[in-house]
Order: sequence, then structure tokens, then C-alpha cells
Amino acid sequence: MPPISLYLSTRTPQPEDSKYFDGIFVPYRETVGRVYPEHRNHPYVTFSVLGDTIGLQQHPERAAVAVTGEKALIHENPYDGFAWSWVCPLEPTHRTHLLALLQEVPQDTVVILEDLQFPNERYCACPRCTHDRAHRGPTDLQTWRIRVIQEWWQDIQRVRKGKYAWTLHPDPYALETRFGVDLESLEVDLEFLHFPIYCTSYGLTYWMEILVPAILQRFAQYRVLLELYAEEPPIAGLWKALFVLTKYRPDGIVLYDSRQRYQDLARALVKDRDLQKKVLAIADPVFQDLVERIRSWV
Ligand SMILES: [Zn+2]
Repeated sequence: MPPISLYLSTRTPQPEDSKYFDGIFVPYRETVGRVYPEHRNHPYVTFSVLGDTIGLQQHPERAAVAVTGEKALIHENPYDGFAWSWVCPLEPTHRTHLLALLQEVPQDTVVILEDLQFPNERYCACPRCTHDRAHRGPTDLQTWRIRVIQEWWQDIQRVRKGKYAWTLHPDPYALETRFGVDLESLEVDLEFLHFPIYCTSYGLTYWMEILVPAILQRFAQYRVLLELYAEEPPIAGLWKALFVLTKYRPDGIVLYDSRQRYQDLARALVKDRDLQKKVLAIADPVFQDLVERIRSWV
């Protein structure tokens, strides 16, 4: 049984991180809109395409708009409850800016595209998109959304031929219908797909037992990396979540962690007898390989 690769996604990479992980993801452009030009030569960079919380504070007219009229802004849209603000996918200034940023990234770098999708099935009904739909002739909202994302992808390919991966909503069955992402129609050659499976505690994990196998089954033709949020949850919860992911054998596990909490995962195994007993009792050779690997970090 091949071991599962382990990656770290961090805003604050430290030289020693690469001793412990198979790859380090650093942000080149975050969902808030912050750009880190110093990161663009790293082997893996995350790149938010349509998230722009900071930019939309100054230019709310660039936001995606729901069919019911609300803008896709964080804190101002209780119906959708977004974690960041979303730009309209047809906004031209934003697109020009993003494509220029992409051109700066070396071809060997894997650009992990984030938020290259519609916010959800209620978007986008801004005047620009309404005009675009009318101009293209009669089509339903779903087909139109897929076409808009296809064109984004083509523009990205035009300005930079290089390695790409794609971060997607952890929704195994509705990427096409809700978000406009139809991977089959894009003829994409991707290094991997990447799904965040986030919780602030991982106290309950039954929902992961449903979601994780469904994602792996649906996207079996791709390499699939699953990401855990590691900055906040208790260490026992993180160990539980690590096992749930391992059980279903993704190609890789990513820890989102800018606080080097991954070292607490290792320390707890040595110090916390109760946790050690629970973790070592799990009879799964691939998981135990992972346990051994993490324990060696102390
Ligand atoms: Zn729009």
C-alpha cells in the first residue's frame, strides 16, 4: 500500500517545514485579495481567482450579484454567509489584473487555482452578466455559468502554459450545476484536485465519512488531495480527522497551518498517553505509517 503524501499549506513558510512534508503550498494571491509576490517562485502556490474581500470594499460594484439582488460580500449577505467576498466572473478590470499576476509565475510552479467558480447557483445576475446572457442568445443559467468558467480557463491557458491544480468546493455532485465547473468539458490536464474539508473542532466526523468517499469516488480519475484546517481544532480532533481521511486513501493530505501546529501533533503523541493509546489502537497500516512519520518529527 503506497503511503499517503503529506503537504503543508502556510502563509508563513519556515525553512524546516520542507524536512517534514512532501510539498509546501504558499499563497501567491489570497481570497482577501492580498498578493505575495515573494512567493511566486515556490514549487506550489495557491492563487485565488475570484475572491477579493479587500478590493470589493473599495469597488463593491465589481461584486457578483445574486438573482435576488444581494451582492456576494462577506458580512453583508446573511443568506449566503460567505467566508470572503466574490468578484463577478465577467468583471474586466479584475480579470486583466489576475491574468497579469499569473504571467509572472514560472511554468514549473504548480499554480493551485482557487475560487475559479461562481459563488453558488444564485449568481451572477449583475447588469454585466444579464447583458452577456441576453447577448449570447437563449440559454439556461447553468449552461451559461459553465461557458463563463470555460472562457476563464481558456484565458488562463493563453497567458500561462504551465502546471495547474484546482481547489474545488467539497461538493461531489453539483460542481457543474451550482458552480459552473465542468471539468470534463474543460479538457484540463491537472496535477491534482484539492478539496478543503474544514471544521474548527473535528469533534464530529460522521459528515466526513459521507463526503470523503463520495469525493474520491466521483473524482477517481484525478489525483485528489484533501485539506484539513489545522490552526484551531484540538489536537485530538485533528488526529481523528487525519484517520478519517486516511481510511479512504486520498493521494495526499494537506494541513492548512500557518502556526506550525503540526509540531503539536507530534508532541502530543509523545506526551499524551491517552491519545497515544487511542491512535496506536487503530489497526490500519497506512495510518500507522503516517503516525510513525509524524512521531519522528519530535
Ligand atoms: Zn456578474
